[in-house]
Amino acid sequence: MRCSIEEYYRKLDRSLFIDNVNKNWADLDRPLPIGFGQTISQPSLVLAMTQQLNPQSHDRVLEIGTGSGYQTALLAAFAQEVFTVERIAELSSKARQRLDRMGFVNIQYKIGDGSLGWPEFEPYDKIMVTAAAAAIPDELIQQLGLGGRMIIPVGPPGMQELLLVKKSRQGQVTSRILEQVVFVELKGRYGWGTGD
Ligand code: SAM
Repeated sequence: MRCSIEEYYRKLDRSLFIDNVNKNWADLDRPLPIGFGQTISQPSLVLAMTQQLNPQSHDRVLEIGTGSGYQTALLAAFAQEVFTVERIAELSSKARQRLDRMGFVNIQYKIGDGSLGWPEFEPYDKIMVTAAAAAIPDELIQQLGLGGRMIIPVGPPGMQELLLVKKSRQGQVTSRILEQVVFVELKGRYGWGTGD
């Protein structure tokens, strides 16, 4: 991808990722419902998170929470390969149809508990988590490669801290708070209940 993340973001039509009445509001800088109690994230926050993760053309990126596939598109446009995990099968399948239609051939999809990561393809250069965890999952830290970085919202429903987690070349893990955010809950082992 020759353009910058911001240029690609400005060209990406968010309405393609919404297939309900909220399509009309796709231009608003707001999260919007996509069904199943889930949301497509606020676009300016998706941009900021992608810029912080800084996907590169040689990167293998793990994304937890495929949702509509909007964030997945921004990652896949810049990374070598994206591995995206979603717990709701219908959302995963719709996202896949959209992203296939857009011509992406570098995305692998999994339906399951993404709080456990996707061990088959570790290590990942970058990890993007798009739902709020109760704590940073140990599995995700393990699956992050040396020199890697992860973006993850951590905290209770209603208000979380968006963390940038870095693993040094020597394996030392550090994190810093980027901003306060509000995301839907990560379910599963490291989330807020099973959701079942
Ligand atoms: N970035 C997405 C987008 O642009 O449309 C929005 C993601 S939405 C805020 C969070 C997603 O995480 C939801 O689709 C939800 O079903 C999913 N999710 C929550 N817990 C999960 C888990 N344990 N494993 C995988 N996906 C999960």
